[in-house]
Amino acid sequence: MKYTHIKNSDKKIQIGKLVCVGRNYAAHAKELGNEIPSEPMLFLKTATCIVDSGQPVFHPEWSDNLHHEVELVLLIGETVKNADDETAERSIIGYAVGLDMTLRDLQNKFRSEGNPWTLAKVFDTSAVLSEFVLKSDYRLTLNEKIWLNINGKKQQESLLSNMIFSPVELVKFISSRMTLEEGDLIFTGTPDGVSKVIRGDRIESGIENIATLSTQIR
Ligand code: ZN
Repeated sequence: MKYTHIKNSDKKIQIGKLVCVGRNYAAHAKELGNEIPSEPMLFLKTATCIVDSGQPVFHPEWSDNLHHEVELVLLIGETVKNADDETAERSIIGYAVGLDMTLRDLQNKFRSEGNPWTLAKVFDTSAVLSEFVLKSDYRLTLNEKIWLNINGKKQQESLLSNMIFSPVELVKFISSRMTLEEGDLIFTGTPDGVSKVIRGDRIESGIENIATLSTQIR
């Protein structure tokens, strides 16, 4: 079982499913040679993928191209199905910064074969999470900067306002296709600048006014 860490709160929420959004920043879709989607492109990770900031990411031996993707993560606080704007907004109770670690070589292979990406996205330590900030403590404006450094050098930097689908739009769409529950997380997609990391690399990343996280590749 994995539980959230919430800033300024003793409350712990058991983490459920991780719904991840692909291609939610136009510049990132372009850098991977993908079309800009007309509706959110979704895949899942499991709670067993999660490690907390400060813990290492273990580089799987079955890949030679481990990529970082820094993302805004939404924490869902209630059961929600077919959400309207108001319900979608209310159901998002907190925010974190997360890494969606991806085996790009396997993803490209599976994509070209027309097979699911599961094993490119789901492996132990493939999701790194900061603590959550409750919406009651900070109201997201989407003007916040999102960034990621490798070994102290800037590698990803964008604004949350560059997301194609906003947090509310994502919750509306996802909940029209599957029920969301308390403890579910939504990884909202990564900006451009994704790149390969190797054992020993140190990653630091953050979202302005929300949180920072750090990890090392082992
Ligand atoms: Zn991602």
